[in-house]
Amino acid sequence: MSRETSDASVPAYIDPSKPSIARVYDAFLDGEDNYEVDREVVRRVRKAAPEARDLAVENRAFLIRACRFLARQAGVTQYLDCGSGLPTAENVHQVVQRVAPDARVVYVDNDPLVLAHGRALLEENESAVFVAADIFEPERLLDDDTVKSRLDWSEPIALLQLGTLHHYNGEDTRTRKDIMRAYIEALPSGSYVAISHFLDPEDEYSATARKMEEMFLHSMMGSGTFSTQDELRELFNGLDMVPPGLVRCADWWPDGPHLKALNAAQRSIAGGIARKA
Ligand code: SAM
Repeated sequence: MSRETSDASVPAYIDPSKPSIARVYDAFLDGEDNYEVDREVVRRVRKAAPEARDLAVENRAFLIRACRFLARQAGVTQYLDCGSGLPTAENVHQVVQRVAPDARVVYVDNDPLVLAHGRALLEENESAVFVAADIFEPERLLDDDTVKSRLDWSEPIALLQLGTLHHYNGEDTRTRKDIMRAYIEALPSGSYVAISHFLDPEDEYSATARKMEEMFLHSMMGSGTFSTQDELRELFNGLDMVPPGLVRCADWWPDGPHLKALNAAQRSIAGGIARKA
């Protein structure tokens, strides 16, 4: 049976003629909530690197390990997940509430399908909620009534920007670093910031990374910037990095040793966590 959504049964609030970031990511992860136009983006990027799916796989695996660390080791009980994506296995609240059942999660996204599916998933979960907002407008998001009331802004919060900032196209007006500074300034002391982002590995795999970037940027989706390690370090605005620092997602406390060399896609997605003193 096909795991893909038929274009014949499209809800009224979806435009199936334009790819969405969330649905393309879902298609990369072999999910069921994507349309032909989304799968076309995946096919284009796979022309640059057949293993491109691993960009999404490694990113999501990093998300799960990062959340497990934040809940278990750092003891964080509040999460602001910017650009949550479509529900998949597993979601932030499932990972952190296994460690701390009362952990609170505020999910933010602007994709109508994410909001519809996310809200349905959370119907019976009082500690997790969805907010519809633009994550690249931090002041407005931080002023949202739900964001203000559901999280205690005098206690540590984990701010997640996972697989999101590379989809920001407004660098001419406001940089990603400035957006992150606005979030970081608002966070209470003891908070954590987790970021994952497409990486230009600046080695023999750089050409493939830039080719994937070209495919993303020139697709109908129109976003997906690959940045260098130095550019990505800037996004943390000088916060103290948790070891091992900003590394390839696959190398951030992996579940075990790598038995095979990493492919071009696995080398082209980086992640890290920092703490605000
Ligand atoms: N954070 C999840 C993860 O790492 O697995 C999902 C990443 S997915 C690639 C990026 C998500 O960010 C999508 O769900 C998309 O709808 C959302 N997004 C992109 N731009 C956004 C914006 N300006 N405001 C809110 N959400 C946005």
